[in-house]
Amino acid sequence: MTDLLSREEWTKRAAQKVSRTQLFIDGKFVDAASGKTFESINPRDNTVAANVAEGDSLDIDRAVAAARKSFSNGVWSEMAPLERKNIMLRWVQLMRENIYELALLETMDVGKPIGDSVNVDIASAANNLQWFAETIDKMYGQVAPVPRDAVALIEREPLGVVGAVVPWNYPLIISSWKVGAALAGGNSVVLKPAEQSPLSALFFAELGSRAGLPDGVLNVVPGFGPTAGAALGRHMDVDKLAFTGSTEVGRYFLTYAAESNGKSVSLELGGKTPQIVLSDCADLDAAASSIAWGVFYNSGQTCHAGTRLVVEKAVEDELLEKITNIAKSIQPGDPYDPTTAMGTIVDKTQFERVLGYIDIGKSEGAKVFSGGEKAEPVKGGVYIKPTVFQNVKPGMRIEREEIFGPVLASIAVESADEAVRIANDTQYGLASAVWTRDITKAHRIARKLRTGTVWVNTFDKGSITTPFGGFKQSGTGRDRSMHSIEGYTNLKTTWIQL
Ligand code: ADP
Repeated sequence: MTDLLSREEWTKRAAQKVSRTQLFIDGKFVDAASGKTFESINPRDNTVAANVAEGDSLDIDRAVAAARKSFSNGVWSEMAPLERKNIMLRWVQLMRENIYELALLETMDVGKPIGDSVNVDIASAANNLQWFAETIDKMYGQVAPVPRDAVALIEREPLGVVGAVVPWNYPLIISSWKVGAALAGGNSVVLKPAEQSPLSALFFAELGSRAGLPDGVLNVVPGFGPTAGAALGRHMDVDKLAFTGSTEVGRYFLTYAAESNGKSVSLELGGKTPQIVLSDCADLDAAASSIAWGVFYNSGQTCHAGTRLVVEKAVEDELLEKITNIAKSIQPGDPYDPTTAMGTIVDKTQFERVLGYIDIGKSEGAKVFSGGEKAEPVKGGVYIKPTVFQNVKPGMRIEREEIFGPVLASIAVESADEAVRIANDTQYGLASAVWTRDITKAHRIARKLRTGTVWVNTFDKGSITTPFGGFKQSGTGRDRSMHSIEGYTNLKTTWIQL
């Protein structure tokens, strides 16, 4: 764990002008072709954190051209694996040396508690990049079993130019999954951060360049979805588009690909993660703690947040009491205070959307068990208290739709079979959890759950070594692990007749 500064010190540092606000293309900071900028708002108090260059299709063209040139030159794709690895490891080192600055940019952009930005977001992003770097000189090809008059090599080659369009909830962690895997695979990249969170990616790219990443290998173009994002998705010279975000926009990327060059698309989309708690759960206190953190962490703005509690009636009241108790220590506070456990909602639009869902829940007949209100620990900021709904019935909108806020919906059931049926009755399939002391039951239920990850007697455990992604409408493809690198490479067979 990295030590944290005082609230006064973070506040002082945040008041200084942000120094990297232009697009990063071909190793240089440049203005947008249009000269336009947009305001990056700090949700802590709704002030302007920075004016950032607003990339559009012309800038995406420039960035893709730079990426293509660097790919075709082979400055990265053909560099010796050991050298590529060492550049990426130097980059990791620079991230760690600049952890305070990177973390503060993340907090200023999205209102995360500074302690999380330092010790979760930037710490993990650096670890992720390190892990991908270390794979570079450990990937082998294969020799196929063919008749003895031939040798057939099966090798993985880079795809070429990869576009990455990422969301604002974990800006640098998600960028590190995609950029790390793409660069380890030998590709060149154009990264478009979300309009709510452009700042950390720009500094991240500069650090890569300082570490020795050749010009054009990583380009960052902040801008809006329907303009810059769509231009990247529709680009004829982008070989793959890696996206994390909403299910609706994920579908657009499939259309963009179909209407342009049929590029490969990987999608990590929404979720409505069920947490099944059976009455034979061995430790309700441990379950309550994991469930509370699993839905309220990051103000509930996590694609796999455990938003649906599917609990056997016999233990529901006791569990909800325990969750509410734990939530008392996860209340909204000043993101610059190192003791704050919950920060803001990302922006005003999302804030109003979440409050709207709380009203919908009430009008649908669900009961607010705890929370259900906004808060204002810092004047002008957008904060919502951890909220627990009871009496939620399958089919209610708060049970079906992704809220992306600190809202838990508790659905009482009579049996394990009913729990599994309700858990699976959703368009999403990102993650799920089951709590029971019966190992056989746990295995049987885990096999029936149609999700990319199933947690048993825990929640939100994961590692860069395990794949992450969805079943059903939660997406296709995987982030993290060697499986993700497969998604950034193409198989080539070379058949040599002897
Ligand atoms: P959220 O609802 O969590 O903000 P989005 O799916 O809207 O998630 O955004 C995730 C990313 O997709 C962001 O980088 C955003 O700019 C981009 N995006 C949003 N709309 C579009 C679009 N129509 N085309 C391409 N990219 C988009």
